[in-house]
Order: sequence, then structure tokens, then C-alpha cells
Amino acid sequence: MNSKPQTIEMPDARGNFGEYGGRYVPEQLETVLEEITEAYNTLKNDEGFKRDLRVLYKDYVGRPSPIFYAKNLSKKIGGAQIYLKRVDLNHTGAHKINHCLGQVLLAKKMGKKKVIAETGAGQHGVALATAAALLGLECDIYMGEVDIIKEKPNVIRIKILGARLIPVSRGAKTLKEAVDEAFEAYLIDPITQFYAIGSVVGPHPFPMMVRDFQQVVGIEAKEQFREKTGKLPDNLVACVGGGSNAIGLFTAFLEEEGINMYGVEPSGLSLKAGEHAATITMGTPGVLHGFKSYLLQDEKGEPLNVYSVASGLDYPGVGPQHSLLKDIGRVNYVTASDKEAIDAFFELSRVEGIIPAVESAHAVAYAMKLAKKLDNKETILVNLSGRGDKDIDFVVEAYGKNYGIE
Ligand SMILES: *Cc1c(COP(=O)(O)O)cnc(C)c1O
Repeated sequence: MNSKPQTIEMPDARGNFGEYGGRYVPEQLETVLEEITEAYNTLKNDEGFKRDLRVLYKDYVGRPSPIFYAKNLSKKIGGAQIYLKRVDLNHTGAHKINHCLGQVLLAKKMGKKKVIAETGAGQHGVALATAAALLGLECDIYMGEVDIIKEKPNVIRIKILGARLIPVSRGAKTLKEAVDEAFEAYLIDPITQFYAIGSVVGPHPFPMMVRDFQQVVGIEAKEQFREKTGKLPDNLVACVGGGSNAIGLFTAFLEEEGINMYGVEPSGLSLKAGEHAATITMGTPGVLHGFKSYLLQDEKGEPLNVYSVASGLDYPGVGPQHSLLKDIGRVNYVTASDKEAIDAFFELSRVEGIIPAVESAHAVAYAMKLAKKLDNKETILVNLSGRGDKDIDFVVEAYGKNYGIE
């Protein structure tokens, strides 16, 4: 475990986080991505852009989201005191709205007419359709036909918000095919369209840009926690799919001494290949979707099938900055299983009256385990990345019986 500060300026000008990140794309895309990088590097220091984003975060998203001391849960578990950063209270119910607003605002300032993206469970699709509706851009969301059937409420939301939902019928008809088709559509016209990525993944500048749009979470949390307790949290815990909510919380604390950080990956049903999505825990470095990072891959470098009860966490890659933070030992990457996450989902609902997203429940599950091992003077701040409304039907159908719901 390493709680030492690290002050590496990340990424370098080419988008490298140590040996990770970068840009592994066809030449045609290289130029477009360089333009986006330049536009972003200019705008991020532009007072008008910063003000626009600040106002949206405050008046539209509802930032700053509070920090709540989970006294009942802490008491019940014994050990460290657990606090929750209530990102779940943000408009649309999760953190993705932060980087969608940032990217759509950037696209608009660059004169783009349309934002496009793929979506798996539909969370990124909803957040992007929301930002596009607000800022007046067209929005195309590519979604596999299998996911369309599974994720009906989000499909309806995307349509109500005025975005175009494009069903993807090739191959397995899920996320990977949706990425392929959205990407092809993007390549046809990368001038008037902007590809908005849903996490701190993809080629440079996306891992950097999405992190920058999310870091507001940690900046707020640092100030709020100090105000509440007179010091900084001893431990930070966040779930890791692509890694955007985790890096959003961690960034403001990376240079602080004595803070242990935990990124929680889904160990699903077991750590056997195909039954989890614990990319850093079980993966090896490789290239996927235009960037280098830890990956779950076979001997040929093909991505393995991944699984988690939380569809927002089942990605075979992870943001490149996390790979570096793993290698230098600044962040501890740990796991929580489906079962632990569902237990935590019900525990938090029943002792605090807060229904977490099943993704966020992985962070809560690990925090509960960690708290037990620590002294009651110690504190844990959990990033509650989203609310569980989207999950209730599925959770009750699959697990309700075990928790007294018929
Ligand atoms: C999408 C999602 C995640 C996973 O994405 P990250 O980029 O790892 O943050 C986590 N929590 C919620 C609520 C999500 O919707």
C-alpha cells in the first residue's frame, strides 16, 4: 500500500500516462483527434468556456452534491466512519452528465452539428442525449438490439430527449458491435460530427479530457470533507469500470500525503475468464479502442468476454491513467463480487434509505469490508457514483427473494 503523494504531470503532450494511453488510430483520425486536442487545450483555459461549464454544473446538474456521513451504516459495521459523496443526486442520477456536458459544450464551440456515441446499458446514451438536448446539438446513439430489449427505460429516455436511437443488428448485437458501427458512422464525417466517449478511455485526448470534466467531484469533496471534519479523508473508495468516476474523485487527492485510495473492480461471479471484468486485477497491458492500458485479453490480444451484474462496469479495458497509478502503487485496485455488491445495495438502502446504482454498490461493498479492519477514528469517503432507480426491476427479479421481497 502506498499513500505517498505523486506529482507526475499527466498525461504528457502526446497523451501518454507513462507507457499507457497514447493514440493508436488510423492516420485519417489522427488529424481529427489533434484538432480536438488543440481546441480543448485552448478552451480549457478560456474564461468564457470555464464559466459556461461552471454555471451548467451548478444550476443544471445541481453541483456541489453533498457529502453525507453514513452514521447508521458506520455504526452497524463497526470500525471506520463511512462518508458518501452524493453524486447520485446529480441531474440524470450519475456522474456521466459531467463529462457529457463538457464534451457537448466543446463540440458546440468547435462548430460541430451532431454528437454521436454508442451505449451499452444506456447510461451514457441518456447523459449524452440530455446534454445534446440542452445545448441544441443533434445526437445519434448506437445501441445493440439485444441491449435495446434489456434496457427499455433508458431507450425510452433517449427517445423522449429527442436523440436518434440507431439499433445495431450485426454480430452479437451488444456493446462491441455498437462501438464498431458508431465508429464507422463517425469516420464517414468526422468534420461535422463529434464522437463523445463515455469514460476515461479511448485515444488521446479523451482520457485527459473526461478526467478534467470529472475532477470537479474530488475538488468539491476535498473542501466539503475538510469543512465537515476538519481534515481530509484517510481513505477514498470508488468503483472502476472505465474509471471516470474514480479518477474524478482521486485527482484532487493524488498529491496529498497519507490518503489511501481504492479502485474497486467487479469480480462478478468468480475470477475465471468470462465471469468478471476485473481488468487491472487480472489483465495485462495491450491496445484496445485506440489506447494502451491493462486489458482482459486472450493470447492473440483479442478482448475477452467480460461480465458483471453492473453493466456499467463490464468493459475489458480501463482508463490508461489507472494503469499507471496501479504500476506506481499510488492506488490500490481491489475487487467486489456480484454478491457483495447486491448485499451492499440492500444494506445501504435499508440502513440509510439510499438506493445506490449497482455499479456504486461495488464501492460501498468494499468500503464496508475495509471499515471493519480500521480504527473508529479513521474515515472512508465513498464515491456514490449513481442512484439505483435504473436497477430496481432487475435486482428485485434476480435477487429479491434472498432479501425478503417476493
Ligand atoms: C457508467 C457508470 C459507472 C462506470 O463508469 P466509470 O467510467 O468507471 O465511472 C459507474 N457508476 C455509474 C452509476 C455509472 O453509470
